[in-house]
Amino acid sequence: MFDNLSDRLGGILDKLKRRGALTEADVGEAMREVRRALIEADVALDVVRSFTDRVRQRAVGVEVIKSVTPGQMVVKIVHDELVATLGSDADPIDLNAPAPVPILMVGLQGSGKTTSTAKIAKRLTERGKRKVLMASLDTRRPAAMEQLATLGKQVEVATLPIVAGQSAVQIAKRAIEAAKLGGYDVVMLDTAGRVTLDEGLMAEVAEVKALTKPHEVLLVADSLTGQDAVNTAKAFDGRVGLTGIVLTRADGDGRGGAALSMRAVTGKPIKLLGTGEKMDALEDFDPHRVAGRILG
Ligand code: GDP
Repeated sequence: MFDNLSDRLGGILDKLKRRGALTEADVGEAMREVRRALIEADVALDVVRSFTDRVRQRAVGVEVIKSVTPGQMVVKIVHDELVATLGSDADPIDLNAPAPVPILMVGLQGSGKTTSTAKIAKRLTERGKRKVLMASLDTRRPAAMEQLATLGKQVEVATLPIVAGQSAVQIAKRAIEAAKLGGYDVVMLDTAGRVTLDEGLMAEVAEVKALTKPHEVLLVADSLTGQDAVNTAKAFDGRVGLTGIVLTRADGDGRGGAALSMRAVTGKPIKLLGTGEKMDALEDFDPHRVAGRILG
């Protein structure tokens, strides 16, 4: 996802490192190039502006211009500001609540919501040693319910038995009850997606949220859709409130803009990255590691 941006930034910063002494004009020129690279990576304009302003302010200071290795100092500042833009610290899924902890999965159809639900359930079961129950609330697409059941079998995580004719809210109620009775630690609710954002979808998600009081509300967003993923997150957060983002298709050829803009624009942390179709293709999102990857 960051290959192109990484090459561009690497080239700009290498040039600075080779120069030895740096003037303010050198830093200014480099920041113009960084700005272009970020815009081409589809990073939101406000985020680009505030990022380059912060780097420039620090980089034209005495700290850099008069240091023994000014180029290295600029690289360090760029790294630090990338980490800050990405959200500073890793923000894992929080299960610190009475069992069964409800986790609500929301997002547009095709974003990877059902796949991510099963991947997270697998991880919580295997690494976290939690007993997880998954339920699909997608009453409009029986195939989505069957998909979750199939994935459940594959990752050896229980799914709520499918009962035809129930509403999303009724299924959610049944899932919470079953999780309580069955002694589950976590109950994951995979809500229905729509192709586009619409009020019907939002109202349903809001109703399920009000009923289940989830400890985490995770938006699954497709990184390949760039700024649209960020706008989707903003819309969901405004209407139902999110606690975090799962950014999928990080293995694809997205330009990195969604990952770099998400935190700054929405104020919500990216918690996990989907990195493939396989059930273990899920990575914790650690801003330090991601910044390191971007700078090579
Ligand atoms: P939903 O409609 O949001 O529930 O989307 P699905 O979970 O059904 O996913 C749609 C397609 O995207 C499936 O073919 C998944 O295997 C695929 N997919 C999901 N997450 C990822 C990911 O992180 N990387 C890749 N390459 N494919 C993914």
